[in-house]
Amino acid sequence: MTPASYDASDGVRTYKLFIGGEWLRSSRNLVADSVNPADGTIFARTQQAGRDEVVAAIDAAHKAFGSWGASLASEREKILLKTAEVIERRTDEIRDMLIDECGSVFNKALWEIAYVTDCLVSAAGDVRHVMGETMPVTQPGQISMSVRRPLGVVAGIAPFNSPFLLSMKKIAFALAAGNTFVLKPSEETPISGALIADLFQEAGLPAGVLNVVPGMPAEVGECLMADPRVKLVTFTGSTKTGRLLAVEAAKYLKKFTLEMGGKSPLIVLKDADIDYAVDAAAFGIFLHQGQVCMANSKIMVEAPIFDTFKERFVAKAKTVPVGHPRETTSVIGPLIRDSQVRFIDAQLEDAKGKGARIETGGRHEGRYFEPTVLTGVTPEMRIYHEESFGPVVSLIRVEDSEEALQIANDTPYGLSAAVITNDLQKAMDLSLRLESGMVHVNDCTITDEPHVPFGGVKNSGFGREGGRSSWEELTEQKWITIQLGKREFPF
Ligand code: NAD
Repeated sequence: MTPASYDASDGVRTYKLFIGGEWLRSSRNLVADSVNPADGTIFARTQQAGRDEVVAAIDAAHKAFGSWGASLASEREKILLKTAEVIERRTDEIRDMLIDECGSVFNKALWEIAYVTDCLVSAAGDVRHVMGETMPVTQPGQISMSVRRPLGVVAGIAPFNSPFLLSMKKIAFALAAGNTFVLKPSEETPISGALIADLFQEAGLPAGVLNVVPGMPAEVGECLMADPRVKLVTFTGSTKTGRLLAVEAAKYLKKFTLEMGGKSPLIVLKDADIDYAVDAAAFGIFLHQGQVCMANSKIMVEAPIFDTFKERFVAKAKTVPVGHPRETTSVIGPLIRDSQVRFIDAQLEDAKGKGARIETGGRHEGRYFEPTVLTGVTPEMRIYHEESFGPVVSLIRVEDSEEALQIANDTPYGLSAAVITNDLQKAMDLSLRLESGMVHVNDCTITDEPHVPFGGVKNSGFGREGGRSSWEELTEQKWITIQLGKREFPF
């Protein structure tokens, strides 16, 4: 029997919209193709929401908030834990979707799924800890307290690169706090959105608590921003789109959070274990073919070890397996789209034209880009400043940690940073002075946990996602007082 979430009349699955607990076609019956980045084939289609469907999704979420917002902590906890169970049972299906839809290599897809189950368990564990406080008073007989209340309808806009994880992280914590949700997945990865709805539905989530409306980004985005019933828009994606949304949010005085792009620096000091630093650096740039917001795309190495580091890092880059994402041995799969390949080509041409040297890589076969290492990169080059979102990294020789810090901070971005050294004094000093939301010592820049305050500074965003810091965004505090006996008024 065909599941309710899609039609498969012509042999290709056409996924539906999920609104108010029902799987629906768009009133315009508009569909978009989903292209498998690994081979360019159309492997599925998705119904496209227009204004009517987005409004219907907000209606459903608004209606469902009445009971979900007042539900017991134990009810929300149960649904989140049950969804984690459903995901564990349906891991193979989700893994295959991530491979086909966004070119996740096999092991990255499994890592993403494991993160999501952990995230749901973590959010379930937090449900009973969304607490207010009592406060001291200066007025005799008064009891003063703050309570945390869910906001209402939260809208999430998610990117393509880890579509399951980045959507689920938003949804899990929002639902845990008692909010209802409307998800607009990326137009490149809408099926992950449909699958998320399907998983929650199987776990017994009441109708309307989660709604999924893929569609034209500007049209859906505008509807979500303009509707006063949407109390928060939480966005993850590029800085370019985030900036547009911030302008829209100002127009409607909408509360919003932005998790955006990065040009994350890794600093390797002269006392580092070079082989360890090489492994960390390689993981930090080549995971998911460099399509990770936290990727360490700029590596500063102190002069005394620069040549050795470069030699070993280039040798390692040459051995990183490029291949079809279904192969369990592949590390580098396809980039998401052809235009991304052209974008990186143009960055490399610009860098070469201005004197950079390609130590290895620089070529691609279709969307499969070779691991690419550049030296001689200077601030005149685009690649020094711009995010590549591909397996491309610049190695920069620095005289000391001060020069490394100056180059690390010489970027509009500020998401993640890392320092490899055994000198804890320097590591702590750099950690405090690096202009980034997250710093990791003796690690690469890519690391994440559901319960940590994840987020950036500068053009990488504001607002934090994860655990307790999510409550700041996802709940509002209300101050309540009770007067015991009579207050004395001056007149
Ligand atoms: P993107 O900005 O192109 O798209 C992100 C989302 O915004 C998509 O759902 C898209 O449809 C939507 N969108 C685009 N235009 C819109 C509009 N006018 N109104 C409303 N929505 C609109 O980003 P992408 O290419 O999907 O993702 C890659 C980017 O995301 C990179 O820059 C990466 O660094 C960043 N990213 C950041 C984090 C983080 O946590 N900081 C995590 C993952 C990815």
